Amino acid sequence: MTVPQLPLNSGTTIPQLGFGVFKVDPTDAQRVIEDAFEVGYRHIDTAAAYNNEQQVGAAIAASGIPRDELFITTKLANPDHKSGEIIPAFDASLEKLGLGYVDLYLIHWPMPENELYVQAWRQLERFYGEHSARAIGVSNFLVPHLEALLSATDIVPAVNQVELHPIFQQRELRDFATAHGIVIESWGPLGQGKYDLFGMTAIQTIASAHGKSPAQIVIRWHLQAGNIVIPKSNSRDRMKENFEVFDFEISPDEFATMTSLDEDHRVGGNPAEVN
Ligand code: NAD
Repeated sequence: MTVPQLPLNSGTTIPQLGFGVFKVDPTDAQRVIEDAFEVGYRHIDTAAAYNNEQQVGAAIAASGIPRDELFITTKLANPDHKSGEIIPAFDASLEKLGLGYVDLYLIHWPMPENELYVQAWRQLERFYGEHSARAIGVSNFLVPHLEALLSATDIVPAVNQVELHPIFQQRELRDFATAHGIVIESWGPLGQGKYDLFGMTAIQTIASAHGKSPAQIVIRWHLQAGNIVIPKSNSRDRMKENFEVFDFEISPDEFATMTSLDEDHRVGGNPAEVN
């Protein structure tokens, strides 16, 4: 199965389907990521805050996969936005990952009360200029945070990684991102198991029509919406299931049905309030 590549404003590309490792316990993480590589994933989404960069690095080293075939994302943790903290935090991530560069480095949350994300972004611009981050982006940025960044800095984020799934579709934020050439990356793409997306009749009906699982229908909807999608699972069978989404398409009517499921219902934190 060939995963499509989406162009980023950095001139590089990103595999549209990746593997997320939030809440993958460090004791399990190397095995889980090695399984993901064997299944075919080449794009891994981690973060300093996930406490498993070391195991991502060990799995990369054990895999023997050439570096240029991998796409590795990590993120600046919330306590590290101060100017003296960012370079050591980034260096520590690179060291744990065993990498000379990351493919994408994100500010994990804007933490608006701190008012530090604009100056943190200027340091990410330097990492990008030094080629130690091939692309730079943000995560959990709402439109006002993006506006503040765009008006005060030079480089437009390549990516905004945000909570996004059929019952929380973030239309306004996506339109803003599209207008500025920012690619949207869906986190919690399956609703994090906190909302029974797979039990929804509309999704089950589409799944039956294609002989696919509800999870595969939801992932297919993200892909056809043009978003990057990074489902997580510790189970190799589910990793495979989530990867087997390139041999079918949902129809325009089915896509419209999925799009009509939006309830503006977050399952994660509101970035305006996470400080
Ligand atoms: P997710 O929506 O990927 O859901 C994961 C849950 O779904 C797990 O419980 C898993 O067992 C279950 N699941 C996976 N595949 C399944 C299948 N085929 N059938 C049935 N159940 C299945 O949630 P997530 O892990 O929170 O999000 C994905 C990734 O997004 C994370 O791993 C992380 O990399 C990223 N993320 C980023 C942020 C951020 O603030 N930037 C926040 C949360 C997650």
